[in-house]
Amino acid sequence: MGVSDPLADLNRLQERDLELDQIRADQSCIPEELSQARVRFKELENRLGDLQDELREVRLAYHKADLELQDLKGKYTKAKQAQAQASSAKEQTQYAEQMRQLEDRIEEIEGNDKKNIVGEIFPLMERIDRLEKEIEAVQASLEEARVRLAELEAANQQRVDDLEAVYQAKKADRDQMAATIPAAIVREYESIRRARKGTGLARMARTNQGYRCTACNVQLPMHVAQQVHQAQKVVRCPSCGRILWKGE
Ligand SMILES: [Zn+2]
Repeated sequence: MGVSDPLADLNRLQERDLELDQIRADQSCIPEELSQARVRFKELENRLGDLQDELREVRLAYHKADLELQDLKGKYTKAKQAQAQASSAKEQTQYAEQMRQLEDRIEEIEGNDKKNIVGEIFPLMERIDRLEKEIEAVQASLEEARVRLAELEAANQQRVDDLEAVYQAKKADRDQMAATIPAAIVREYESIRRARKGTGLARMARTNQGYRCTACNVQLPMHVAQQVHQAQKVVRCPSCGRILWKGE
């Protein structure tokens, strides 16, 4: 007639618990494809933000140059009118000089093909054009990446949910099993398992000199090994504190 060994039951319980731990680990493990898609999406978002910031700045510079140009042209027209009504040659020369200076600055902004002056406005317009095209392209890529990411997120959520169903079924089973083992032992095992982040029960293994704990590998004192074999009470490894089991 076999005597029931609560520690053998506890060992089976621990196997279940480790299985449950593995399911939790699998759930939180993000598939490589998904993590890459998240990175790609974030990169595109950042790229789009940078381009939009740049476009805002260039448009502002363009607007500023354009305002200055309108102002200069207004001043030029007024100088020209004043020159036409000027009463002296000296005054006319002064207006002519003023108009020449205004013209120089207008050229700097507007450019002059004959003098090979590019001007400030044209490069800004080119940059605005280039940026708008690039933004359009990045927006298209971002939309593709958004769709792809959503698919992968949904697939991963499904995977996590499926694992959750498996987990809950196994957990119910495990709890039923735990109910057949003396509650004090289960409680002690669980508190060690929490502290040790994994196992609460360790098997003893034979060595040349006696026995060792298979969890921490420390050589066990003879009297500890004897107590474990007698199985009169719960004995813990003097080194790692796990409940020691003689094995089957
Ligand atoms: Zn140990």
